[in-house]
Amino acid sequence: MRQLQFDDIGPEKILEVYDPKTKMHGFTVIDNTRLGPGKGGIRMTSDISVDEVASLARAMTWKNALAELPFGGTKSGIVMDSKTLSKQQKKAIVEAFARALRQVCPSIYVAGPDMYMGEEEMGWFAKANGSLKSCTGKPARMKGIPHELGSTGYGVYHATLVAAKHIGLDIKKARVAIEGFGNVGTFAMKFLTEAGAKVVAVSDSKGCIYNKFGIDYEKLEAVKKRTGSVVNYTGQALASNAIVGVDADILIPAAKPDVINEANKASVKAKIIVEGANIPMMPSIGEEFHKRGILVVPDIIANAGGVISSYVEWKGGKAKDVFPMVEKRIVKNVKEILRQAEKQHMSPRTAALEIAQERVKRGTWKAR
Ligand code: NAD
Repeated sequence: MRQLQFDDIGPEKILEVYDPKTKMHGFTVIDNTRLGPGKGGIRMTSDISVDEVASLARAMTWKNALAELPFGGTKSGIVMDSKTLSKQQKKAIVEAFARALRQVCPSIYVAGPDMYMGEEEMGWFAKANGSLKSCTGKPARMKGIPHELGSTGYGVYHATLVAAKHIGLDIKKARVAIEGFGNVGTFAMKFLTEAGAKVVAVSDSKGCIYNKFGIDYEKLEAVKKRTGSVVNYTGQALASNAIVGVDADILIPAAKPDVINEANKASVKAKIIVEGANIPMMPSIGEEFHKRGILVVPDIIANAGGVISSYVEWKGGKAKDVFPMVEKRIVKNVKEILRQAEKQHMSPRTAALEIAQERVKRGTWKAR
């Protein structure tokens, strides 16, 4: 994780808030608001630091600019192990955080869910803050759009289709490996199998299943539900991290950071890596893959489906508006970035960052 640093982008504001009554201790890093109010989720973990929040806020600045959303980049963290809290304690902490952020939220910050924060928490947040515009990811009764729609996985699916076409790989002949069978991984698998791709490996926290004949999405869902893990599906059971080196054309990391690392990068056989997760490898490893001829679609474009869905909710749209907008923006952006990268002989991440920086520097939004 990078150290907090200040440059010509930001951060513009860093808030550290504490409530002695509930012991709520949190940070909000408003990285940059030249394109609009900062957008980014709230993460609740015991080891969250201002450095981590700042690094995630910067990633949101780039992601929102690339998705052409009228949002800047922001992120929040509450220092707490969510699993040690009763529901009432968690509610009191989320409410205290929402009240403490009234000075910036919703005027220059629109919050949302992240790790250990979901729909219910966003409902508490909006109510305590006093504005439905203060966050997205709220329950449907509060004009929210459900997470279960799978907008991030749908965007990852479209990014994969564009990347496959770019290297001349027929998706119907492609073998895919997916790390993680959560919100992003399940929907990416569902849409890819519907498009005719053969998913040959899937992992979760308990292990990895490999089946060269292909894994059926609905049967895998049933196995995961019944037994608690994908490893109980028919095939060869491997360790979770073995997903990185399985024999597949496309690898989709969709769970944890740094799953591809110094120790296993040489084992990668895929021709395409689509980053569904945030920071599944260091950018330097992505550069090495670029030199090896592996096409990496970076997280800041591939997993923007979630924030596009948040934008639809924020402007008062409906769930039915989400998928068309995710498809349109992801397809356009991935195509543009792959074209630029090829033209300028650089990696897609470098090309994406150049475009994002240019857009942010040109931005003119002013807080009212
Ligand atoms: P999730 O909590 O729904 O699912 C995570 C999955 O990862 C679970 O299936 C879990 O079993 C699996 N997992 C945990 N440890 C693992 C391991 N060692 N190996 C393989 N799998 C493991 O999370 P999600 O919402 O699907 O998010 C996944 C990633 O995508 C995260 O990096 C998140 O930041 C990123 N992301 C999510 C969204 C979104 O809208 N959900 C948007 C952008 C980025």
